[in-house]
Amino acid sequence: MSGQKYVLEVQARLPDALSELKALSENLLYAWDRHIRGLFWRMDTALWERCGHNPKVFLRRISQERLAELAGNAAFLEEYQYVLGLFRTYRDQTRTPSALVAEKMGAEDGLIAYFCAEYGLHESLPIYSGGLGILAGDHCKAASGLGLPFVAVGLMYRQGYFRQQIERDGTQNAIFQPHDLRDLPIMRVDGDDGEPLQITVPFPDREVAVQIWKAEIGHLALYLLDTDVADNARSDCSITFQLYGGDRRRRIEQELILGVGGVRALRALGLKPSVWHVNEGHAAFLMIERCREAIEAGMRFEAAMEQVAGATVFTTHTPVAAGHDVFEPDLAATYLGPYARAMNLDLDELLALGQSEQNDAAFNMTTLALRTSRYQNAVSRIHRGVTAGMESHIWPQVPVDESPLQYVTNGVHVQTFLSRQWSYFFDMHAPGWRVRQCDHHFWRNLVESIPDQQFWLQRMSIKADMLDYVARCLTRQYRRQGVGDAHIERRLAVLRPTFGRDPMVMVFARRFATYKRATLLLRDPDRLAALLNDAERPVILLFAGKAHPADEPGQALIRTLVEYSRKPQFAGRLFVLEDYDLALGRQLVAGADVWLNTPLYPMEACGTSGQKAALNGALNVSVLDGWWGEGFQGDNGWGITPYSHSDPDRRDHYEAEDLLDLLEDEVVPLYFNRGDLGYSPGWIARAKAAIYTVLPRFNAQRMLLDYIENLYLPATRHGRRLAEDDGQPAADLVAWKQRVAQAWPGVTLSRSNGRAEQIDSGDTLELHVAVELQGLGADDLQLECVMTRVRDDGETESAICCRLVPENGDNGTAIYRLAEPIEVPGLYEYQVRAYPCHPMLAHPFETGLMRWL
Ligand SMILES: *Cc1c(COP(=O)(O)O)cnc(C)c1O
Repeated sequence: MSGQKYVLEVQARLPDALSELKALSENLLYAWDRHIRGLFWRMDTALWERCGHNPKVFLRRISQERLAELAGNAAFLEEYQYVLGLFRTYRDQTRTPSALVAEKMGAEDGLIAYFCAEYGLHESLPIYSGGLGILAGDHCKAASGLGLPFVAVGLMYRQGYFRQQIERDGTQNAIFQPHDLRDLPIMRVDGDDGEPLQITVPFPDREVAVQIWKAEIGHLALYLLDTDVADNARSDCSITFQLYGGDRRRRIEQELILGVGGVRALRALGLKPSVWHVNEGHAAFLMIERCREAIEAGMRFEAAMEQVAGATVFTTHTPVAAGHDVFEPDLAATYLGPYARAMNLDLDELLALGQSEQNDAAFNMTTLALRTSRYQNAVSRIHRGVTAGMESHIWPQVPVDESPLQYVTNGVHVQTFLSRQWSYFFDMHAPGWRVRQCDHHFWRNLVESIPDQQFWLQRMSIKADMLDYVARCLTRQYRRQGVGDAHIERRLAVLRPTFGRDPMVMVFARRFATYKRATLLLRDPDRLAALLNDAERPVILLFAGKAHPADEPGQALIRTLVEYSRKPQFAGRLFVLEDYDLALGRQLVAGADVWLNTPLYPMEACGTSGQKAALNGALNVSVLDGWWGEGFQGDNGWGITPYSHSDPDRRDHYEAEDLLDLLEDEVVPLYFNRGDLGYSPGWIARAKAAIYTVLPRFNAQRMLLDYIENLYLPATRHGRRLAEDDGQPAADLVAWKQRVAQAWPGVTLSRSNGRAEQIDSGDTLELHVAVELQGLGADDLQLECVMTRVRDDGETESAICCRLVPENGDNGTAIYRLAEPIEVPGLYEYQVRAYPCHPMLAHPFETGLMRWL
């Protein structure tokens, strides 16, 4: 045949009786509601798998006959109506804030705008690369479930993140595939005129046009910005094609679209957020755009920025340098030029917001974000300490452990990551579990009441499903690599165990970044081989993860693992699975027995996959870093204490040895300690403890409630107070800060009375401190006596701070005295300090200034 070939896709028409399937396919509620996914699955299981669990594609491909058949099938219609009922109930219930939110927010209302460069909601919307995106997705899902007034903003990556193929020799192929946007659960946002709504973002010498897509996540909207529009030059169309692709220039362009374009999109949609949450530094240009708006409305730069910062929450997610965007001075100057002009500012003044001594003249997005937000957090207790140290230049005189930086430990969205079997089990035995997610007693009682045998059968059935899924993935992967079927069968035999002869399954699934040390166990290959190959106690190791295409050492890790997986002593015991995504992730966390994590302390900011595994009853065997530093309780998994050795090689050596010792001596023996029962009671006790200690603490609902209480609510109030009277309070605060900053170098403290070394309990310590005020008022300073009691055993108790109150002084000197008596007898150490104090500060140490006697 010759001549032009045309393409026409003829879609099946939904029968009237099933017309609401369309609505079900367009709301990402299906990403966590298993009943909705189950409905599609039942309609045509094979097609559902072939369509990659994508309901929109599924409805386009399903046959008219099958639809007609289902429309006449009473059992199916009943289930359809049931699922529709759940869908409608969810929508009605989340239209208003839930009781949990109402209780925290009190009288405050307002909209929270959340900005992130990636969102991992479901495999059918591939605009995520890993932990950060999945966390953002979980954050949105929980916000929807709580009925929080919330809107999310991101970028529409037409090619998403890459799909990973692993070749036979372990080489990673990164495949960026363009998506047909009709396949994705998004719709274009049109203006009142029916034309696509467009906004523009100033670039050097041009304006880049941006169109907007909307994804529905339960009750809330995620707006995705896209530069692929006819008005743009070709090279600008591709700005938003790839997630974390391209060079530095592309990256700063993407971040301008996200930050500046995001603000403009929300304005165009008529939305008025009261709090802005910048999730990781990528979106921090949004503060510059809001500042520009305030200047346009008549404010001065400093006051405008003060007001913007007051209503801004910033979360930082990693201590690893590659996770922080730093732009060359010239690049930043070029792209920020138009903004400086629009703000009537010296370009240098604007650039200074992202510069610090640590980066010379380079422009650091984290620095920008920290300077232009007043509510900041890290994502675990350990990470907070590390970040407070790294970023201490923001609060130079404040002790690191008192830094204003807070932490909210990440949690995972339970409905998404709890396996289908457990969800249905809890539905049956404890309906209402979804709203009691944070109730520790409830979970302890529920899980402990499950008979061991039933618990074990449930775990084994989930694990069998997972192994089956893994075997199918590996079969596809090996066939593509050209491996023969007979060989595949032999290699995968261990994944098809007979009852009671199941292997213990250990999983290491995460990004292949070097600090995660995927190959730590291979430091002693012989010991590992012996551990895996014990005929009575077989153990298998599954690896999965992507390495960033520019990360050579990360890709080398994959090659090493694949090489080992083909050696005779590891073949059929150690497997490397390609294309780790949400679908594979859900399977692995559901069915693993042991979840491994071996980061180099303290580089794992939080880590969340271990939480997903634990709430399904897997046991974590992990370095005590990130969330596991808080979650490990002795009986709910195992912890590896990091060595503080400065030589990285020795450190790896010791920690690998500890890990192997632990596996040989405790983990494997406990798993196989089955006796006549067919299961190990000791193992089950730990698995139950894992569920009831981790699920109620490390879930996304708890995380969100913490954000509301500690960040969103204070930022809402603070932002509103600063903005009263056209921003007068913000202007006053700025003037005060400038006055303080000028005077501070000359402010000195001296003790003006002798020192008493002994007093009686109930007496007041005579402590007079003279302060050289340099023109400041006595009330502009807070003086504190920081007292620590030394106990009999030599340990110190946590410090208490007692205020010193000012008395009239003269000549610009004020005397401050300690007024309160000391009741508890004992030996104390004390110090005196002063810091600037103003009722409009978001945090007492916000200025970063402090002086000690
Ligand atoms: C949870 C998850 C992650 C993040 O897990 P970490 O423990 O932070 O590495 C990455 N990818 C997928 C697919 C996940 O489900």
